[in-house]
Amino acid sequence: MSTLLIKHAYIVTMDDHQREFPDGGLFVRDGFIEQVGASGELPEAADEVLDLQGHVLLPGLVNAHHHFYQTLTRVVPAVQDANLFNWLKTLYPIWARLTPDDIFISTQTALAELAHSGCTTASDHLYLFPNGSRLDDEIAGAREIGLRIHASRGSMSLGESQGGLPPDSVVDSEESILKDSQRLIESYHDAKPGSYVQIVLAPCSPFSVTTELMRESARMARQYGVHLHTHLAETEDEEQFCLQRFGYRPVGYMQQVDWVGEDVWFAHAVWVNAEEIQVFAQHKCGVAHCPTSNMRLASGIAPVKEYRAAGVNVGLGVDGSASNDGSHLLGEVRQAMLLARVKEGITGYSRSNDAGRKVMTARDALWLGTRGGAAVLGRSDIGSLETGKCADFFACNLNQLDFAGALHDPVAAIVFCQPRGVDYTVVGGRFIVKEGCLLSTDEGRLIEKHNQAARKLVSG
Ligand SMILES: [Zn+2]
Repeated sequence: MSTLLIKHAYIVTMDDHQREFPDGGLFVRDGFIEQVGASGELPEAADEVLDLQGHVLLPGLVNAHHHFYQTLTRVVPAVQDANLFNWLKTLYPIWARLTPDDIFISTQTALAELAHSGCTTASDHLYLFPNGSRLDDEIAGAREIGLRIHASRGSMSLGESQGGLPPDSVVDSEESILKDSQRLIESYHDAKPGSYVQIVLAPCSPFSVTTELMRESARMARQYGVHLHTHLAETEDEEQFCLQRFGYRPVGYMQQVDWVGEDVWFAHAVWVNAEEIQVFAQHKCGVAHCPTSNMRLASGIAPVKEYRAAGVNVGLGVDGSASNDGSHLLGEVRQAMLLARVKEGITGYSRSNDAGRKVMTARDALWLGTRGGAAVLGRSDIGSLETGKCADFFACNLNQLDFAGALHDPVAAIVFCQPRGVDYTVVGGRFIVKEGCLLSTDEGRLIEKHNQAARKLVSG
């Protein structure tokens, strides 16, 4: 039995009543929250006591979409200005050189970055397994860092010769993909409250996977009760591809292959119409909104406001670090708020008088990054600070230059002001980041190994 007491922080619970305690705290026992509330109402002693006066403390952020391995190919000159399809076609041959060590190292780098930005649970989508790489390499890397992961067993089975986008050298047979998926679920998937590893089945996208593999993945996921994830409606090119190859728009194609349901979430979902938003709502499909990636690749702006109005669960994802070049999830919260406002501006809504304005607020954006992400991943044990939930949270010291003059609203300050590294990140009551330092690995050594691996991978 171990206990942790946090006192005198500005607590943002993100519970259903959106309660906040300006002088509040948490009492944690064995990784779960036993009590949350005003400092004066909490127990007085614990194995570890931390006074966080001057800090704002929130539920750990949930990352709903990423490709950890892409931290090795950030800012590759040839694709800095490319659109999605050209970006992919240039990077596939580089990614075909990935090794098991590359997967392990890049997982640690991405998770270290995420931890520094307040993330406590991350979903990852690994869909290439060259040179003996396995999802096991990612899971091993994640275990050392200490964040919770939803490791997606991605796949590509539709090579160029069959009309797909990726070269044949990076696609696998349906049989080997399904066999490995089953092995991973049986070896690692843990659905219990407080789970650290969950497996997700995630064929990569309509333009890199056969229809048969989509159907078979859905069948297997439902047999085992694991979730399904894929990229969908990211760009207009994809819409054209689906219409030409399948005779359906991307969402219609998903309905045809049994890929709608509360166990399904889609990355991006930018190019959807009003009826398709209703399809997501009716079937309770989730969306991982990735604002930086969509801006970086000039893909478009997802209709987040319309999704939320229809009752669709929306979480936030930093997306792969080759189409974002960072894994800063608190930064992504800020981007989500700002991009939603850009969309309002384009539609002309913001030009109406102030009384009619309803733009995305800082708290709305934080909701997407916490409760929204938890709902999208199908988890009720994370995303808010409430009795019985996982003791996953992050805290920012407000006594910093970045926040000077912004303390009229400390919660909004961490979204509106320039995002920085957080001061504390705690997962299951364990400190991953403390006073701004990553505790679970030697960060300097990790950067060195990562840069060596990136050089080797990109130069071939
Ligand atoms: Zn992606």
